Amino acid sequence: MAATAGQVIVCKAAVAWEAGKPLVLEDVEVAPPQKMEVRIKILYTSLCHTDVYFWEAKGQNPVFPRILGHEAGGIVESVGEGVTDLAPGDHVLPVFTGECKECAHCKSEESNMCDLLRINTDRGVMLHDAKSRFSINGKPIYHFLGTSTFSEYTVIHVGCVAKINPLAPLDKVCIMSCGFCTGFGATVNVAKPKRGSSVAIFGLGAVGLAAAEGARVSGASRIIGVDINPSRFEQAKKFGVTEFVNPKDHKKPVQEVIAAITDGGVDRSVECTGNIDAMISAFECVHDGWGVAVLVGVPHKEATFRTHPGNFLNERTLKGTFFGNYKPRSDLPGVVEKYMNKELELEKFITHEVPFSEINKAFDYMLKGESLRCIIRME
Ligand code: NAD
Ligand code: ZN
Repeated sequence: MAATAGQVIVCKAAVAWEAGKPLVLEDVEVAPPQKMEVRIKILYTSLCHTDVYFWEAKGQNPVFPRILGHEAGGIVESVGEGVTDLAPGDHVLPVFTGECKECAHCKSEESNMCDLLRINTDRGVMLHDAKSRFSINGKPIYHFLGTSTFSEYTVIHVGCVAKINPLAPLDKVCIMSCGFCTGFGATVNVAKPKRGSSVAIFGLGAVGLAAAEGARVSGASRIIGVDINPSRFEQAKKFGVTEFVNPKDHKKPVQEVIAAITDGGVDRSVECTGNIDAMISAFECVHDGWGVAVLVGVPHKEATFRTHPGNFLNERTLKGTFFGNYKPRSDLPGVVEKYMNKELELEKFITHEVPFSEINKAFDYMLKGESLRCIIRME
């Protein structure tokens, strides 16, 4: 057992004090884990666009001061009362949506929307006692997505922690705790393209390129990448994207451009932008009769989806998913094994790396559209 077990740990954390202002590295007190919680030493974390939305708080509810971060890898430092599945020293990936293993969703083969631990973007406290485990001079700092990985130590509900192979390199597999699994699973678990089919991917960031990777391994013959940032296109070739459409290059709506080059529409589409217009285009560009569109991007809190009901009557299907429909505790260890068996590549998603002290650079790279994933090294 760690000497720190049961004690408050003082460590560095990157605190978002205000919307859109650079994070500040602060000395933060991290309380011991309570019932069904674990305290984790984070070794690597990376930045996902969802962190940026809640930091900007333009289209999301502002909750500050807050410790953001949800894509990470670490080692269990200590466990709270009732925790039997995890022990100090276990290598783990935290996940923003949990799996209690007891509710109707966890028992269903179809759902990963756990009743107890499903994603909650507005809660800034722990479930057990509605309190934060983080404080500075006694003043609470809020949690984010139940994970708050932009801290050397964090406290997480055991149901949001996947135990993985200790031989897996945490500086690589950390991106499986959100971005990779979200995109890859959206294609292979939800869109399920058939061999030889056509797939459109909207948004060629890490999530979209993981979705493209899912289309490639499913045997799709055409993978059409759609992005408003043309610098994404060269990069996307490494992920099996065969054609590109930049909506800005066309006068017609992009769904009409796609319909024209695919004889009526693609068989599947996966939206990974967070932009409501792209979501509507992603739905309207699938072929009538059998097309399936999957929404992944996190929308503005006031966004509404408008389309003519005839698009559904003509037998198009619209779906959405969090975390690629994977159950984090049950499924994530197996996805990590696929990487260990060299069936999946992660290296090509990692375009940048910074020490924790330079975490704000990771935000710059993402905002400029330069990075796919920037790994933030805690030590
Ligand atoms: P990213 O910023 O790296 O990539 C997004 C890409 O979309 C960029 O290349 C951008 O140029 C492009 N884009 C933006 N608007 C567009 C438009 N109108 N048309 C075409 N392309 C457009 O972001 P990311 O980290 O890859 O995340 C992608 C999305 O997935 C975000 O909305 C994020 O919040 C969401 N997300 C959802 C889940 C989930 O479980 N559902 C999990 C993680 C991330
Ligand atoms: Zn994410």
